[in-house]
Amino acid sequence: MQCEQFRELISAYIEQSIAPPLAAKMEEHAAGCRTCRTELEDVQQVWRMMSEVRLVEPPASLHARIMQEVADRAPATPALRWWELAWRPRFAFAAAAVLMVAALILWSRNVQTDAIALSVVTSAGSPVAPIKATALPARFEPFRVETGHLRWMLKMSASIPTAIEVSTETQPVWSGVVGRETTLVLPQVPSASVLAVQVRWDDGNVLRAWLPVELAQEERRPVLILRSKSIEETLSAISRAYAAPLVLVGEADPLTRVNLETTGVALSEMLKELAEKLNLEISRAEDGTTVLTAR
Ligand SMILES: [Zn+2]
Repeated sequence: MQCEQFRELISAYIEQSIAPPLAAKMEEHAAGCRTCRTELEDVQQVWRMMSEVRLVEPPASLHARIMQEVADRAPATPALRWWELAWRPRFAFAAAAVLMVAALILWSRNVQTDAIALSVVTSAGSPVAPIKATALPARFEPFRVETGHLRWMLKMSASIPTAIEVSTETQPVWSGVVGRETTLVLPQVPSASVLAVQVRWDDGNVLRAWLPVELAQEERRPVLILRSKSIEETLSAISRAYAAPLVLVGEADPLTRVNLETTGVALSEMLKELAEKLNLEISRAEDGTTVLTAR
């Protein structure tokens, strides 16, 4: 800032009618320029004195005399200085919007967005062992009960009679032989969590699902920080954060550890990177559930 501009802005500064970033620039200039600092202090002192002067009733003719004086001295078309313009109410909103945009640009430069930091440590050749079955014998479907709460059901079908065991993290849910389509209503999702379901069929194949309490209505881009988690814990946390159902087909290596840090990343983008690291294939079931299958 130049001294000349500083002097022009002194009154506006004292009145606090200039934009905060400009005021900050003035303070910066005053800190480094003795002349301007002195001038600012002088004007501030005059203003203080003026505010301390008791008001007296002016003579009736004073107003007319002042207005005449102003009319005589003022240039024919007074040019508005830009900051006067900017801080008139009519323009204040536009000016505030411009400042806000500037602030957002500065902010977004400081904050790292759309970042994925991911590392996978695995002892096994394949972090998720592929299943032997060729067809997925189960799918999950959400439905709403009268209270409006979201519940999940599991629909299973097998071309040849297959013994299937269904359990959650905490309890067995069902076991039996599935031939034609069998529908099972799953227990209520614990609040603020996800329902983790395991479906195991008789040839040793296993499928895991993480079903959220509520499905996201719009795309979420949460911040996720996971340190040294198992594959199951990682997928559970992702399902919770994104409010999206996830299914993992194949047995996860229990020793594999995942570190994950994301900011402002879409689910599809994040899963793409994770699937690549874990050697998984991503597909989308017709109900929107993301299915991760070992290659
Ligand atoms: Zn100066």
